[in-house]
Amino acid sequence: MQTVRHSEHTLKTALISKNPALVSQYEKLDAGEKRLMEEAFRPDSDLFGPITLHSQSDWITSHPEAPQDFEEFFNDPYRKTPSPQKHSIYIQCIGLLGNTRSISEEYVKWLKGYCEAFFYGLTVKLLEPVPVSATRCSFRINDNTQNLQIHAGVGIFSFARYGSDFYSSHYEGKLKKLQKKSSSDYSVFDNYYVPEVTSVLLLRSCKTLTHEIGHIFGLRHCQWLACLMQGSNHLEEADQRPLDLCPICLRKLQSAIGFHLKDRYKALVRWVDAESTDTPTVTPERSREDPLSLPKPVEAFKEWREWITKCLAVLQK
Ligand SMILES: [Zn+2]
Ligand SMILES: [Zn+2]
Repeated sequence: MQTVRHSEHTLKTALISKNPALVSQYEKLDAGEKRLMEEAFRPDSDLFGPITLHSQSDWITSHPEAPQDFEEFFNDPYRKTPSPQKHSIYIQCIGLLGNTRSISEEYVKWLKGYCEAFFYGLTVKLLEPVPVSATRCSFRINDNTQNLQIHAGVGIFSFARYGSDFYSSHYEGKLKKLQKKSSSDYSVFDNYYVPEVTSVLLLRSCKTLTHEIGHIFGLRHCQWLACLMQGSNHLEEADQRPLDLCPICLRKLQSAIGFHLKDRYKALVRWVDAESTDTPTVTPERSREDPLSLPKPVEAFKEWREWITKCLAVLQK
């Protein structure tokens, strides 16, 4: 196991930069926000720490790329910044998540609420789910695994592979026998296996969604500290990375969106606590199997909730 540890000076420059305009922009942050951001280079910080590499197949080892500090992010002419006219994130669900349409709708609402807290200040809109056939994307059956893969020119993230059994030979989404289908026959997706809705699936989905949307705002892979924006090559590595941003990436996102850190962290805590957000009240007559009474499975988020509470304490000291 190897650790990528940067010097205090390197992290400080990555966060604040040496550009006088950006330094004075930083100085204008409120005292609590600076105190939290400076945890980035406090050697004994228990909020932020170095990146740990677990194997040679980890992202940083296998995809060398130039690190992006705050100044580079700020000066990137291609990054997308929200404006009063353009401040919505659209989520298009392709196919269903969960075994029924109502579980799927519930699940996507949890993701929407999560994104709204994470990208605090922006509106997240759900588009009507569409079947795979409506995308007119090509697909293939993986020769080795027999799993279905969709090809597209835009960012599509599959949550199927975040089910606990996707990589196992028992994966139920494996097609029983090689099916010869024409490229316009989408019937293989009918009743296709969907992973069971668990807390870990929700956590992995939230991580993937916010990581990918982070890229849309121009955040590149983080090589500074353990962070949601670290690249990942495989599920173990994705599981290792934290749910939230290091201070350097946080300053980037804050500069793009313009939220107060305190408001954003509080919104995230509210999302974890509101276990039944958007869930209709369960009436006694309703059967236990009624999918509408599905509570949001937030057990996997509890540890992170503790972490946010510590961040809030630093902000409000
Ligand atoms: Zn990425
Ligand atoms: Zn980061």
